[in-house]
Amino acid sequence: MWEQTEMDLVESEVVVVGGGYAGLAAALRLHDAGVDFTLVEAADRVGGRVLTEIRADGVTLDHGGQWVGPTQTHLLALADRFGCATFPTWETGKHVEVWHDGGTVPYLGAAPADGPGIAEYTRVSEVLDELARTVDTQQPWRTTRFAEWDAQTAESFFRAQTDDPDARRRLALAVQGLWCAEPYEISLFHVLFYIAAAGGYEQLMETRDCAQDSRFVTGAAGPARAVAGLLGGGVRLGEQAQSIEYDEGGVRVRTASTVFEARRAIVALPPQAVRTIRFTPGLPVSRDGWLSHSPMGRVAKVHAVYDAPFWRAAGLSGVATLYDDGPVGVVFDNSPDDASRGVLVGFVYGDRVTDWSDLDDARRRAAVLESFTTVVGQRAARPLDYTEKIWSRDTFARGGYEAYVTPGGWTGYGRRGWREPTGTVHWAGTETASVWNGYIDGAISSGLRAADEVVSTLSSHAEG
Ligand SMILES: Cc1cc2nc3c(=O)[nH]c(=O)nc-3n(C[C@H](O)[C@H](O)[C@H](O)COP(=O)(O)OP(=O)(O)OC[C@H]3O[C@@H](n4cnc5c(N)ncnc54)[C@H](O)[C@@H]3O)c2cc1C
Repeated sequence: MWEQTEMDLVESEVVVVGGGYAGLAAALRLHDAGVDFTLVEAADRVGGRVLTEIRADGVTLDHGGQWVGPTQTHLLALADRFGCATFPTWETGKHVEVWHDGGTVPYLGAAPADGPGIAEYTRVSEVLDELARTVDTQQPWRTTRFAEWDAQTAESFFRAQTDDPDARRRLALAVQGLWCAEPYEISLFHVLFYIAAAGGYEQLMETRDCAQDSRFVTGAAGPARAVAGLLGGGVRLGEQAQSIEYDEGGVRVRTASTVFEARRAIVALPPQAVRTIRFTPGLPVSRDGWLSHSPMGRVAKVHAVYDAPFWRAAGLSGVATLYDDGPVGVVFDNSPDDASRGVLVGFVYGDRVTDWSDLDDARRRAAVLESFTTVVGQRAARPLDYTEKIWSRDTFARGGYEAYVTPGGWTGYGRRGWREPTGTVHWAGTETASVWNGYIDGAISSGLRAADEVVSTLSSHAEG
């Protein structure tokens, strides 16, 4: 018997836990199917790892997910339904590569034609692509060399592939930029799975027609806010799930003040957030082991705002990759579409976040602005506004962009632990997606998949 309580009771057919894009997509599909649901979200806003802020001078900044590409059809369809427009990411002008010896190389195109280690880097990334083409993204454990690859890290693979230290520097920054982790931490199989889920390495890395193609005029939280507006009172903010009791009869999700009772739950949280909830009965070993092999990446996103995108007049795009000792690994021009302000965004990844986040506020800011001045010149040292979001310190996400899988995680636990429902509890979240895993698009498709699972089990019970 479930424990009796004095708390408020809310009953519905389905309770969705988490109001990021995965939970919102699940709730929207239930709403469209006429299924009674309640969505509980711990924070005082929806969007989760997508966090749009309008700064004091009116500039819209995305601290979390922001870009959308043309093959991310779930996100584009959702944006289209709610009339959220996009505009192309700025990449006109010369990009800059800052090398580890401090040398700065401006270039056009995807990479400098003859930069150090480029040829070897290109060759190894083509090998990654070729291996990724053999991955079964729906049932990854059916991939022929599944266990062999999952026993390796990206680091051991790179070492076996090339002795060229410059190529390895490039490969390391690619891993940091895609998974916010270091090559020594991540399963090679997970790297290949993720490349396959995106439709190839170029899709992940490039801008035009690829993952970084466009941005949202209202910020990337625009569609999420619109969904929440439509769902109205079905969305309960400030309700952090603390425990979930489940059996074949249904589920009870408890927050500090309320019990949400339903026939099914969809838990749409990042893996480390799932681990903060007390499940009764405890989760199966497969699911628990999967979660323990799925740490969050380490990333901070920093913005500096200027009165104009001054680098454009100097023929620079504002796009840069940095291999030097500074905190920032990658820079983009994140100015608004009308260029009414100039905005640079920088990403701090992996081990660099760990060290940089220990500095005090002034030192962190100075280190980032030094990276920016290396890329676009001294004017970058004096922004009108500066802001940073260290995702490892986010109460609910505990990191970003997403969870990656450590060696052995897929082999030991993937088949039953990745996304197979646990009785009346169904799993969503971008980490459970087969297409664009780790992205907003993957979050949405995971929510739709989980809602479909629930609708079909509820209707088969009704027929039975
Ligand atoms: C810095 C950064 C940059 C990124 N860039 C991009 C990009 O450009 N393009 C892209 O497509 N993707 C990007 N991503 C990834 C993208 O943001 C995520 O894949 C996506 O938002 C995940 O959605 P989700 O619904 O699966 O999870 P989340 O967004 O994490 O949603 C989970 C929700 O659950 C809530 N929650 C947590 N615990 C509880 C609890 N106990 N009870 C109730 N609610 C709870 C959280 O508050 C959150 O709202 C980026 C992410 C980061 C952090």
